[in-house]
Amino acid sequence: MPTLRLCALYPELMNIYADRGNIAVLRARCEWRGLGFELGAASLDDPLEADRHDFFYMGGGQDRDQVAVAHDMVATKREALHAAAGRGAVVLAVCGGYQLLGHSYELGGQELPGVGLVDLRTVREPGPRLIGNCAIEAELGGGPRVIAGFENHGGRTYLGDGERPLGRVLSGHGNNGRDGFEGVQRGNVIGTYLHGPLLPKNVWLADRLIELALGIELEPLGDDALEDAAHVSARRAAGL
Ligand code: GLN
Repeated sequence: MPTLRLCALYPELMNIYADRGNIAVLRARCEWRGLGFELGAASLDDPLEADRHDFFYMGGGQDRDQVAVAHDMVATKREALHAAAGRGAVVLAVCGGYQLLGHSYELGGQELPGVGLVDLRTVREPGPRLIGNCAIEAELGGGPRVIAGFENHGGRTYLGDGERPLGRVLSGHGNNGRDGFEGVQRGNVIGTYLHGPLLPKNVWLADRLIELALGIELEPLGDDALEDAAHVSARRAAGL
């Protein structure tokens, strides 16, 4: 049986809204199917080996933690992340992590560098934080599906012309509160503003990401009643 080899990026710094819950869901859904699950981590100063992992995960974070993380990521992890993404590894980044996947995050007169895996820029513009429940329609193969969660970000993200959003906003603010887009999806590199955490409320997405990372097809688990209830309640919270 294949093993999902996951690397948590900066797990102690990038874990706002208990985003590490996403890892727990990936582990459980692998183990319930008899798949292996191996958890590694890379934080400040740690080198990253592109071939050692199938899935790179990064949660959200506060601006002050993002400063240290942004510089470290460019210095010690940029190349490996590009190599991993190039061979089809999944990169999933939430909120503060998502903002660092692009070219830059501009806040308070400074510009934090991003790793440039996707063509986007994030700017802290004047105006309120974008907070609230959010639902989007996404297409990751197999037809459009709803992803529901919660967003809270000061930064506004703008995708470059050729870049594809993860979804279309059904309810909430999304990338910038203006263009109706949420997140980004380039190959198996996915960024999103949605917490919840994201995967406990959208287990179909957890399964899809495992499939993409391992290049396999999963059978349904059979009993997702609790997980489905969490999804429905997240959708309802967003007004769907
Ligand atoms: N600090 C970033 C912002 O406010 C990201 C916040 C988050 O991860 N929730 O835009």
